[in-house]
Amino acid sequence: MENLKTAKIINGKEIAAQVRAELKSEIEELKNKTGTTPGLTVVLVGENPASVVYVRNKIKACEEVGIKSVQHKLPETTTHAELLALIRELNASKDVHGILVQLPLPKQIDEEEILEEISPSKDVDGFHPYNVGRLMIGNPVLQPCTPYGVMRLIESTGVDLSGKDAVVVGRSNIVGKPMAMMLLRRNATVTVCHSKTKDLAERIKKADILVAAIGRAEFIKGEWVKEGAVVIDVGMNRSQDGKLVGDVDFEGASERASFITPVPGGVGPMTIAMLLKNTVEAARRSK
Ligand code: NDP
Repeated sequence: MENLKTAKIINGKEIAAQVRAELKSEIEELKNKTGTTPGLTVVLVGENPASVVYVRNKIKACEEVGIKSVQHKLPETTTHAELLALIRELNASKDVHGILVQLPLPKQIDEEEILEEISPSKDVDGFHPYNVGRLMIGNPVLQPCTPYGVMRLIESTGVDLSGKDAVVVGRSNIVGKPMAMMLLRRNATVTVCHSKTKDLAERIKKADILVAAIGRAEFIKGEWVKEGAVVIDVGMNRSQDGKLVGDVDFEGASERASFITPVPGGVGPMTIAMLLKNTVEAARRSK
């Protein structure tokens, strides 16, 4: 049977491994020059099973590249004041270069206030309004990990973004909105779509660069994808048969796109790699 697939697969696992290798040598250099070992502190409140796995993976990734990682495991009953006090302590510690508070937090804790308490220079998730603002004015410091990783994936294709039509589907603070800003910085013409967007398919059909961050299994149909588009699928969903799938119909889109990310093995591995990169950047800047 004829193989209709034309898209090149963007291998996120491989590119994330490249990022980690680069970081390993940067960390060595930083140690030799300044005697500093980058340190990441991860705070986990409660026992949300998904969060436990995410935190474990982050700690493991730190160890692999030579970042010193510390985990604070707090009980589900932790009060807002207790968590705030810990953040202040970590802000003041010279050995802590990055602070990550794993979300979601239990409902007695005001998430927004906690994230704002993290020192912007240690905000390795890039969620603090200061860092969001820096990205917005085109002078970013620590950038949100998932869209930062997406930019690296797009760069790997060699496609020049200048003047290209980019469509971002999703407008969350952690993916869609910062993604749009990063693409704009590279001179793409950016359209941000969301649940109230009319004629989504028509907009997607014009996209040279498509980033899907919706959270709905295979929602974007192959026939909506423009011929030759670069397709980045951020979504992580369970299909009805329990398989991990993205927001894009991978098979259909592969027949039209020039480049496409798989799920799993596309954006996912990049998110942690960029968290490590932000930690090293924070450590470097602290010197
Ligand atoms: P959110 O739920 O915060 O945002 C989803 C966005 O999709 C919203 O802006 C929403 O619009 C929009 N949306 C929902 N339904 C539609 C629709 N029918 N048509 C158009 N837009 C729609 O999700 P996140 O941004 O946090 O995550 C998105 C996906 O990416 C999820 O699958 C998540 O698991 C995955 N993810 C993957 C990561 C990775 O490392 N690979 C990291 C982070 C997220 P509206 O604002 O109007 O409600």
